[in-house]
Amino acid sequence: MAHDREISGIRCTQILAVLSDYLAGEVSQDTRVCIEAHLSECSWCEQFGGEFSAVVRQLRLRLAEPPPIGAAEAEAVLDRILL
Ligand SMILES: [Zn+2]
Repeated sequence: MAHDREISGIRCTQILAVLSDYLAGEVSQDTRVCIEAHLSECSWCEQFGGEFSAVVRQLRLRLAEPPPIGAAEAEAVLDRILL
């Protein structure tokens, strides 16, 4: 993969590898924080996340909105997106 930036300690390729687990709520809290920090700054993941690109865009919008929503609410939002 030509593009593989490291942001917040996690690389784009790692993001794509764990994104399905992240969306399923199967990653640790530390991993979740790293993923969200990366996605909020990485336009590449947003544009080229493949099947997840729409989800990433929605997630970035949510992360940018104050006040931050809770994890349970975020997962409810993602469930609606994925259905
Ligand atoms: Zn990225």
